[in-house]
Amino acid sequence: MGNEDRPLQAQTDWPMPIEGMERLYPQRLPAEQAKEALLQIGRRLYEKGYAAANDGNISYLLAPGRVLATPTGVSKGFMTTSMLVVVDSECRVLEGDWLPSTELLLHLRVYQENPEARAVIHAHSPIATAFACAGIPLDRPILAEALNLLGQVPVAPYAAPGTQELAASVVPYLQTYAGVLLANHGVLTWGASLTEAMYRLERIEHYAKLMLLTGHLPQPAISLAVDL
Ligand SMILES: [Zn+2]
Repeated sequence: MGNEDRPLQAQTDWPMPIEGMERLYPQRLPAEQAKEALLQIGRRLYEKGYAAANDGNISYLLAPGRVLATPTGVSKGFMTTSMLVVVDSECRVLEGDWLPSTELLLHLRVYQENPEARAVIHAHSPIATAFACAGIPLDRPILAEALNLLGQVPVAPYAAPGTQELAASVVPYLQTYAGVLLANHGVLTWGASLTEAMYRLERIEHYAKLMLLTGHLPQPAISLAVDL
């Protein structure tokens, strides 16, 4: 029997049903549970095609000045807990043997600017990134869930990956939006829990997909001014 013939309840066999995520990632997580959560979300990002190769990064605010984060240079689908690091608010490594993500400046800026944020996810989910490459915000009121649960998703101006300039580029959006598109780069979401940051990322990608399917990508991607 093919997938299409299965009864609807077969969907409860999905690896991480929504109710499971709520139980799995409550707002406050002890360090060991937070590490497991980062591995699970990493696998989810990779399997959904939101983080190709070693793209993407995830962090969780364990306590003031203690941020659990994914390492640089590792596929988010194949991390182990020993690869995770804890950094302070200046991005100095407190625990762990691996180098933290090069985008951690971006994450730290979110925690600095938004005291409600306890989790940050950066990904390159392809359809939302296509809008980011074209400089088009997700701002058309075409989808009920996007209106009610997400709001508009703006595009932050371009800054090179891994720089303080990129971290500064998102500051105007951190208080009033659920996430932001990074021009010519990807997506950034934050939340009061890992669940919320993950849901926001998934909702942004879904919203972008619906925008695309309904014909709201009216211009080509904007090329960066670089010599190749
Ligand atoms: Zn990136």
